[in-house]
Amino acid sequence: MAIGMGDTCFIVDVGVMFPDSELLGVDLVIPDMSYVWKNKERIKAIFLTHGHEDHIGALPYLLAKLQVPVYGSRLTLGMCRHRLEEHKLAGSTELNTVAPGETQTLGPFKINFIRVSHSLADSMALAIDTPHGRIIHTGDFKFDQSPVVGEPIDMHRLAAYGEQGVLALLSDSTNAEVAGHTGSEKDVTHAFEEIISRTPFRVFIACFTSSTHRIQLAIQLAAKYGRKVALLGRSMNQNVRTAIDLGYIHVPEGVLIRPAEIPKTPRDKLLVLTAGSQGEPFSALSQVAINNHKHAFIEPEDTVVLSARVIPGNGRAVSRVINHLYRREANVILSSEAAVHVSGHGSAEELKLMLNLVRPRYFVPIHGEWRQLVSHARIAKGLGIPSERVLLAEDGDVITFDAEGGRIAGKEQTGRVFVDGSELGDVGDIVLRDRQHLSEGGIVIPVVSINKQDGRVETPPEIITRGFFAGEDDELLDEVRDLIVSTVEGSSAEEVADWGLIREKIQTELRRFFRKRTQRRPMILPVVMES
Ligand SMILES: [Zn+2]
Ligand SMILES: [Zn+2]
Repeated sequence: MAIGMGDTCFIVDVGVMFPDSELLGVDLVIPDMSYVWKNKERIKAIFLTHGHEDHIGALPYLLAKLQVPVYGSRLTLGMCRHRLEEHKLAGSTELNTVAPGETQTLGPFKINFIRVSHSLADSMALAIDTPHGRIIHTGDFKFDQSPVVGEPIDMHRLAAYGEQGVLALLSDSTNAEVAGHTGSEKDVTHAFEEIISRTPFRVFIACFTSSTHRIQLAIQLAAKYGRKVALLGRSMNQNVRTAIDLGYIHVPEGVLIRPAEIPKTPRDKLLVLTAGSQGEPFSALSQVAINNHKHAFIEPEDTVVLSARVIPGNGRAVSRVINHLYRREANVILSSEAAVHVSGHGSAEELKLMLNLVRPRYFVPIHGEWRQLVSHARIAKGLGIPSERVLLAEDGDVITFDAEGGRIAGKEQTGRVFVDGSELGDVGDIVLRDRQHLSEGGIVIPVVSINKQDGRVETPPEIITRGFFAGEDDELLDEVRDLIVSTVEGSSAEEVADWGLIREKIQTELRRFFRKRTQRRPMILPVVMES
């Protein structure tokens, strides 16, 4: 989100989206930053609400082309640092630590930072003072009255702002469709304690590596019941070490062990915190599940707790991992069966509480899919905010506030950019379509050698296939060869001389043939050679 006035503009959060299984081979989805490049001169700073991937993940892609100062809490910036180092941007980026209660002035704006609760510690909302009034951007939040790490959300400040008057509230909609209250991070204590204290064997807990509260709780309980803790996975190590170094997670002396010490640690004296709660194929949990991890392994009766929500689209991958875990005779505990997970986002009643505390003149639901934004808009209207002051905007919409009020008043280019591998290269829609096509139908490459003089096909065409079942079917391939020969030889001399054209003709004929004969649509790439 970009917020601007005159020649001053700043950006709130620069996140990534995770690709779903339709985006084959795409590693990351980052926002189309055309607006940023177009407004290079105006953009003066980036403010980060918290350290989750969907809020900081695309930072290096922006900073690589536009060097502006970045503001965020200690933990948020701690989590950015590795990423910037990986992209060799750490040295050239100005990182400014800010704390809740502080204020930063930028042109006509004053940005105040407010402590909020979330699944990650050190999250903040922003109260942005503008000449037209104050805008509150909640970031991601819930009302957690008893967080494991740090203090609860600063309701006093939110109420004080409500008292003074707020022009617009931009609020997290992720759980707008969930009734009631989201639990506190402490609610997981009971289930965790049951498992950690009663199991006479190893306990593995898979969770998001940024779940500060969850990880702190697991470490406390492990220490209480005499278990050592090992961290598995690169991001688990990085994020937990950062949180330990910055003082957000406390580990009693001697509790943390290296993964190499796992084999010699007694089964009832071990807790493993692992990445891979989404079934990512190369994650530590997936490797453990197929007994392919260098140090960690599972024996019958070991317990594996999946302490995370399964993000839609990852269901099949998670299911695959669970099958492997059962094959190793592990007990698997899912968040749907036991209270081993609570969401980091406020449910409907908390969204109402936020609206009632802040009492904004205008309301803009943010964060979430369209259906969640609509649900959140309904909640606001239900509390008496008139429809014309509920601004339901989607990516690219420009919201204007001036003397006449607030409205959606324009559109800027936005969209998704696909990042393939670790390089900055973008994958276009065409590449994606090709991959989709290949994954469904496979590929057929007819290699045709045409005599330049008489336009005849000299030797029988060679047919190479991949991911297409015809490999075994000799008769079908003979028909394909005959079809190619008749296509070439039934064409005029002019057509045959134009190789682009003859390629296309072969392609069209084969496409028709395969569709009719096999009901399949392989990708067909004819190679025409001169002989
Ligand atoms: Zn978040
Ligand atoms: Zn988020």
